[in-house]
Amino acid sequence: MTEAREPETDLRLFFHPRTIAVIGATDDKRKPGYALLMKVKARAERDGATVYGVNPRLNDIDGIPCFPALGDVPGEIDVAVIMIGDAEQGLRDVVAKGARFAIIFTAGFREIGEEGAKREEELARIARDGGVRLFGPNTNVNAFEMFPDTDGKKLALVTQSGHQGRPIAQGVELGIGVKYWAPTGNEADLEFADFVEYFVDIDDVAVVAAYIEGFKSIPRLRVAAEKAARAGKPIVLVKIGRTEAGQRMAMAHTGHLTGSDAATNAFFRQYGIVRVDDLDELLETAALFTRIPKPPNEGVCIYAISGGTGAHMADLCAWGGLELPTLSEETQQKLRDAIPDYLTVSNPVDNGAQVMRKPGQNRGLIDIILEDPIVGILVCPITGILPSMSKVIAGDIVDAYKTAKKPVVVIWGSPVTDEEGYRILIEGGVPMFRSFRSAVVGLRRYLDYWRFADRFEERPTPAPRLPSGFETMLSGSGPLSEYDSASIAAQFGVPFAMTALCETEEQAVQAATKLGETVVMKACGSGILHKTDVGLVRVGVAPGDVVSTFRALDEAGRAHGGDAGYDGVLVQEFASEGEEVILGFSDDPQFGPVVLFGLGGVFVEVLKDVALRVAPLTRADAEEMIREVKGFPLLDGARGRPKADIGALADLILNVSRMACELRGRVAEFDLNPVRVRPEGQGVVALDALVVRSRG
Ligand code: ADP
Ligand code: MG
Repeated sequence: MTEAREPETDLRLFFHPRTIAVIGATDDKRKPGYALLMKVKARAERDGATVYGVNPRLNDIDGIPCFPALGDVPGEIDVAVIMIGDAEQGLRDVVAKGARFAIIFTAGFREIGEEGAKREEELARIARDGGVRLFGPNTNVNAFEMFPDTDGKKLALVTQSGHQGRPIAQGVELGIGVKYWAPTGNEADLEFADFVEYFVDIDDVAVVAAYIEGFKSIPRLRVAAEKAARAGKPIVLVKIGRTEAGQRMAMAHTGHLTGSDAATNAFFRQYGIVRVDDLDELLETAALFTRIPKPPNEGVCIYAISGGTGAHMADLCAWGGLELPTLSEETQQKLRDAIPDYLTVSNPVDNGAQVMRKPGQNRGLIDIILEDPIVGILVCPITGILPSMSKVIAGDIVDAYKTAKKPVVVIWGSPVTDEEGYRILIEGGVPMFRSFRSAVVGLRRYLDYWRFADRFEERPTPAPRLPSGFETMLSGSGPLSEYDSASIAAQFGVPFAMTALCETEEQAVQAATKLGETVVMKACGSGILHKTDVGLVRVGVAPGDVVSTFRALDEAGRAHGGDAGYDGVLVQEFASEGEEVILGFSDDPQFGPVVLFGLGGVFVEVLKDVALRVAPLTRADAEEMIREVKGFPLLDGARGRPKADIGALADLILNVSRMACELRGRVAEFDLNPVRVRPEGQGVVALDALVVRSRG
């Protein structure tokens, strides 16, 4: 037995080991293991590292010295690759040898079900107890892939599936810089977040590209994503599990739980994680971040060589939310000197293929465009044209890309990729899209990331805390009455309509007299959840009807709520003015409390027009949520309505976020439905509340 020691945390040693031992090294050229061994060998040769084989039958494999057991290998081992079926034994040997990292190539763990999951936990335990950091199981040796050591910024790749990473790693064929590849497999120990944290510290890594089936730990992801955001380095990823079918595949594959997708998207927005839909987008979007910096503004100018191209791009830009500002008079005038009258120069600019024949002509026009302060990014869509022409324009675009202060992007819209123009663009390193649509989508995501970066702020999570006096009430399980739910929410600054809980007719009459001309009356109790559905809400009760209403509600309330679930009749101030919204949170098994905001009381379930954010929220989150719902114009003064008090609504959302965090683990669901948002300056008022306590 070796003494327990601190596990290695510096992943540099993992990616740059001095010594590597391959347990189960084979000399059988027909086996994939042989090719993998050769890959490790090639990499070690490049970096001046030493590779050892462990195989009781062999002394040497193509110059790699072999030993009968890992214990026989001389010196210290930085990384041990386990390629034998009995991974547990292999790992115990690694622990005994005192190696720092183990890569477990072997499959057949969590991905095959419960039995495999148990074995995997055992691996994690052996590694933890032995101070070895574990990579895999069910991974490969792609971490030792050799990428060209090009100049400039690069992407670092993390994939939970080797095959899904290959097309991104192959981006090097397009001149895209790739620094590292972590194919993490089942993540029994080292996980996505560990690699993100390591990669964003590396100077020439500009972006982390990832293919993810499920996150092992959301708290770890949060920390890593915050670190990435602080560094201004985006995480661009494909996250599967959008649909049920996708989720089942993910369970079967690496065995992660995929969280509810809406919560996942909310989390991504809040942490600046750029979600893309497929591997093409992953490569193109990640590459964009390696090649162009933050733009000075969001104005896009299209520099096209045909009116059709310009019009098509303009159409797609409008669809995809890219702004094409009109160029200034001065800019248009200058362009006009070279471009005939019948072509547009306002944006899109259409050079009509008139000025692209001589090298430098396009460059002159591009410079004029980029000098216009309204332009933040230049996009040059090139469709298949005569090779002699595309060569000239490509040369000018590369020139502009390399020297201009603003981002320049090209679209190569032709399937022909063996002509000179294409080669010039690839060699020039201009960010390239292969379709108009993908360019628009990619640029929108790129701009969204920089918007995020501009308003990024840390979001400390409030510690769990029960409001004093409510400890007993909150330690039970199941729903609470409207009255109790509102009393708890009021502790978090939620303003309610004035309400009295009345057990007698006299109390009801007294309360009604105080609360105004007409009142609202409701039966109240933990056994009465959706009061309207069972006829237990009366809106606009006149003074003369208070007694009869009390009697009717009292009787029906007892009948519905039962002895334990009925408390009395609420007499409530009648709140007529304002738009009805819903606000609440529910505890997601992966993300914790997720805050929901939506419009329109009764229609919310029909229209599903809601916005979600994972707690805790920032003020920017709250403001964004309000604007995100389709019905926002109703709050914003549409059709002659008064503008609603959005500031007070944002405050309320933040209060609900704090409540979600402080009552974490105690409250499974919370609803304020409805809240009325009054006209500007008049605040908000909640009219109903429901707390559902967590089990146990
Ligand atoms: P539930 O959701 O349990 O059916 P609510 O207390 O939300 O019952 O009441 C149902 C509806 O009655 C609300 O959506 C709202 O439109 C209206 N309402 C409830 N309380 C008031 C009030 N104090 N002032 C004005 N309208 C109210
Ligand atoms: Mg309600």
